[in-house]
Amino acid sequence: MGKLNQGKCYFCGKTFGKTGIRRHLDKCKERSNKNSNGNEDHYIIRIQGYYQKEYWMYVEVSANATLKDLDQFLRDKWLECCGHLSMFKINGEIYDVESSTDMFMFRRVNSMEERLKDVIYKGLEFTHEYDFGSTTILKLNVLSKEKGSKTKDKVVLMARNLPIIYNCKKCGEQATQLCVECIYYEYPFYCDKCAKEHECGEEMMLPVVNSPRMGVCGYCGEDGE
Ligand SMILES: [Zn+2]
Ligand SMILES: [Zn+2]
Ligand SMILES: [Zn+2]
Ligand SMILES: [Zn+2]
Repeated sequence: MGKLNQGKCYFCGKTFGKTGIRRHLDKCKERSNKNSNGNEDHYIIRIQGYYQKEYWMYVEVSANATLKDLDQFLRDKWLECCGHLSMFKINGEIYDVESSTDMFMFRRVNSMEERLKDVIYKGLEFTHEYDFGSTTILKLNVLSKEKGSKTKDKVVLMARNLPIIYNCKKCGEQATQLCVECIYYEYPFYCDKCAKEHECGEEMMLPVVNSPRMGVCGYCGEDGE
């Protein structure tokens, strides 16, 4: 794991630590210029890997957006490998992609078509799970509710951790791949050159990506990055 867990403000481009960035986002001039006379309710949400807290994002979401909009954003940025199911858990209630009925007799299943303003509030902590086999769990904290300008995208990325640098186990150069066989019992990172010679075989390698789903299933990272 990298020594510094720094992240970037997407409004001004400056870098900060994970907690410093929250204070910065409140004060960022570039951001307030953009948001100055908006009158739409927005939530500021911090999202992080439930177990991999070094991966994090701060987003601003319209209160009229649905859980499904948020789910799609999480898939696009961090999760989507092969169209697995996903759900939110909010105060013990389940919100599934499908507005489902009797699939799970033992629990009530709500739909992700719910609007955020009807299900979340300042101070709430909730979770998102993607893929019920090799599950990636995310933790979401609703930090505040603010007025903001209407934006083209319902979910706006405000800040995100910088890619974490891993060094190649063999030569120490920056790693680009990891071995999904070795990941469970030893340091699995290699550069392109050393990956070719790794005993588990090249087909066991997945790319190093900026996501808590790195190395899981066939996850290869965000489209276009
Ligand atoms: Zn900024
Ligand atoms: Zn998959
Ligand atoms: Zn190497
Ligand atoms: Zn290996």
